[in-house]
Amino acid sequence: MQEHLQNPIFKVLAQTVAQTQTEAYVIGGFVRDLFLNRPSKDIDIVVLGNGIEFAEKVGLHLGTKVAVFKNFGTAMLKYNDLEIEFVGARKESYRANSRKPIVENGTLEDDQLRRDFTINALAISLNPATYGSLVDPFAGLADLEHKLIRTPLDPEITFSDDPLRMMRAIRFATQLGFSIDETAIQAIKSQKERISIVSKERITDELNKIILAKQPSIGFNYLFDTGLLHLIFPQMANLYGVEIIRGKGHKDNFYHTLQVLDNICETSDDLWLRWAAILHDIAKPATKRFEEGHGWTFHGHEDKGARMVPQIFAQLKLPLNEKMKFVQKLVQLHLRPIVLAQEKVTDSAVRRLLFEAGEEIESLMLLCNADVTTKNEYKIKKYRNNFELVKQKLKDVEERDQLRNWQPPISGNDIMETFGLAAGREVGLLKNAIREAILEGEIKNSYEEAFHFMLEKAKELGLVQVVKP
Ligand code: ATP
Ligand code: MG
Repeated sequence: MQEHLQNPIFKVLAQTVAQTQTEAYVIGGFVRDLFLNRPSKDIDIVVLGNGIEFAEKVGLHLGTKVAVFKNFGTAMLKYNDLEIEFVGARKESYRANSRKPIVENGTLEDDQLRRDFTINALAISLNPATYGSLVDPFAGLADLEHKLIRTPLDPEITFSDDPLRMMRAIRFATQLGFSIDETAIQAIKSQKERISIVSKERITDELNKIILAKQPSIGFNYLFDTGLLHLIFPQMANLYGVEIIRGKGHKDNFYHTLQVLDNICETSDDLWLRWAAILHDIAKPATKRFEEGHGWTFHGHEDKGARMVPQIFAQLKLPLNEKMKFVQKLVQLHLRPIVLAQEKVTDSAVRRLLFEAGEEIESLMLLCNADVTTKNEYKIKKYRNNFELVKQKLKDVEERDQLRNWQPPISGNDIMETFGLAAGREVGLLKNAIREAILEGEIKNSYEEAFHFMLEKAKELGLVQVVKP
């Protein structure tokens, strides 16, 4: 183990241990990640005694400032790019209505026992006689090998004490590709209602970590199967299920959404594009109809879905800013490239798409590619080919007309001045006509062509150009 403690900081910590004659251990995520070969920038140190005093001694050795959090009994210092946190070993007991425990001093094992999972309870000694040895009373190392998330205590107690740990269990399982121990799953099922004492922000932090993992479906399957999803994000749980009428079913939109989400993760690590994947079909349950002689339809689910986005963002305490607008736009437009790819790809349809999607066009194309989840090889090929065609056309149209961030080549003011008009219906008519002509490809997106076109149109309206002296 000693070879893992190469960083010079561990020498300083060992010196402080010797000098103060207090025991100290590296504990938690840093030790776990050592074994998993994952880089980690946080080191947690548990001290059998006063963590703050110990941290101040280390700070003196290093000549660095120590941030002290008296209320929590913790202290933190920075060393190069590492953040090192110190805490006294503690024993915790919990009350029913709060995640905040009553804390007393404890032994190392007390401290390990209050940790969430066995793989997060591993400790390495910094003490002279045992320096570098692993302290692993709950077989955390074996769980690392078996890729298992298990709690040191009875999971019913662990999860009831601090229900955020249910989200953390699922988050770690997703990030690490581990399974959750069967008794722990049962405990999440029976304790799930306790999630109500956890703040929305903390829940969403964990949810976002799940979404940012390589394969978020692992986490969403756990959330769904344990029933947590129904409590924290019912609209998504509601996507589940297939209804059959007269032998006709539709696809299960929950599993379809998970597939789209995993697909998008292969091409983008943007959190908000991933949210767009999660929400793209969110209004399917609300718009579902069975039409005789036709089958299942979800007409307007993209519009209704876009309208649901702000409410869902507010409910989950996600930011109500341009990130939300981005997600909303993608939900709104997510069918457009697909429709294009099914029909003949006309220039004007491509131009309209580019006009509406603007800067978001690449993200939208990624989402639509990810949305193709059919197993039918022939269909996949056809879609993908047509998508390439759409992309090529987008490029051509873009080069010609620069429709991204489109500004009308002729402004309302230009129109008013040219014809001596006041603001009103005619100005709007002309502006629309110019925009339509550009989108239809009748004229180029240039001042000259637009001006000429405007004069023609104005004639039809009986407007006369004001000639300036
Ligand atoms: P990461 O930093 O990747 O999220 P981590 O394991 O370091 O993983 P932190 O939230 O930084 O997680 O917590 C550090 C350690 O503190 C954990 O390894 C665990 O031992 C303990 N811990 C954190 N949160 C809890 C909790 N809610 N209940 C019990 N122990 C916890
Ligand atoms: Mg950490």
